[in-house]
Amino acid sequence: MPSRTGRHFLQIPGPTNIPDRVQRAIAAPTIDHRGPEFAELTLRLLPCLEAVFGTSGPVVIYPASGTGAWEAALVNTLSQGDRVLCFETGHFATLWHRMALSLGLDVDLVPGDWRHGADPEALRLRLAADPRHTIKAVCVVHNETSTGVTSRVQELRRTLDEAGHPALLLVDTVSSLACIDYRHDEWGVDVTVAGSQKGLMLPPGLGFNAIGERALAAARTARLPKSFWDWQPVLDANEHGFFPHTPATNLLYGLDEALRMLREEGLPEVFARHARHAAATRTAVKEWGLEVLCLDAREYSGSLTAVLLPEAHDAEKVREVILDRFDMSLGAGLGRLAGRVFRIGHLGHLNDLTLAGALAGVQMGLQLAGVPVPSAGLDAALDVLRTG
Ligand SMILES: *Cc1c(COP(=O)(O)O)cnc(C)c1O
Repeated sequence: MPSRTGRHFLQIPGPTNIPDRVQRAIAAPTIDHRGPEFAELTLRLLPCLEAVFGTSGPVVIYPASGTGAWEAALVNTLSQGDRVLCFETGHFATLWHRMALSLGLDVDLVPGDWRHGADPEALRLRLAADPRHTIKAVCVVHNETSTGVTSRVQELRRTLDEAGHPALLLVDTVSSLACIDYRHDEWGVDVTVAGSQKGLMLPPGLGFNAIGERALAAARTARLPKSFWDWQPVLDANEHGFFPHTPATNLLYGLDEALRMLREEGLPEVFARHARHAAATRTAVKEWGLEVLCLDAREYSGSLTAVLLPEAHDAEKVREVILDRFDMSLGAGLGRLAGRVFRIGHLGHLNDLTLAGALAGVQMGLQLAGVPVPSAGLDAALDVLRTG
């Protein structure tokens, strides 16, 4: 490795850049997780965390990555052989679907082209074909991190309501929470799954479940085996500010600080900033003559943009050149998109000039890798940043 100066540009769609304030908070000495100081931290933090999910109900925190929080959502609400409906929006939806299968659930996958979100009309048809209400849960990835496509959760909810179908709605917001407008209570979501290392600006290591009333009721009769993931012992211990296991104390210090930063900026402003950065990025991509992978303007992601290269070019080579020359990491194409796309993360802790620097690196990297893109792309993005 050549020696590097300045900061590495971490522009993958998670893990994201950690603010210095959060980093410093995490560096504090670990305390007794059964002592009064810890209980105070938990009891202060939980209501602030709930506000970010847009819920007045409980949010369970696990010392786990987002994958663990996926499992918790399923095993707390479902029983062996229950029918579950998943939407193939991309790589992460596919992984959650596979997990549901491996847990012994009877899973239907609505096929997708990885360029659109979960289709409300497809949901309507599946529900219409299930008059006896055998489908117990619908799993949707809100922001598909492999494609940069954001599903319209409110419309999916409306479709369930119009069909009068009682299936639970389980939503993965790992890469949308604190980036893209999301409201657990108002949108009638039953379980919201999230993680620490994307919009929340923390290192990896915390997984979350926001739990609605219907999900809590379902948990009373759900029979899938669970122990560590069981919500109830966590909810019971949380009443007093504690956990039934050793919590990730230092990550909770970081979470406390990250939540403070989100409150200072204001959630609507956080969402607007992400939308603006996403718009500037798409403007550059279009001006470069390249394709944004997402095909429906209603579903453009505020968190990341996946850029589709013409067949003749290798997205992995572009990423390599950019890492080597400009010390910037971009997201790789995942699953069936490997080599075809690269992903620009614009979520979490960044500002206009971070994005401008990132887009400058992408433009120079494309040109060096032999993808003929005009330098007008960066200029067009700067115009959006200057005037927006
Ligand atoms: C990152 C991500 C996950 C996986 O979370 P891990 O923390 O890697 O286990 C799940 N879903 C989405 C949408 C993600 O972006």
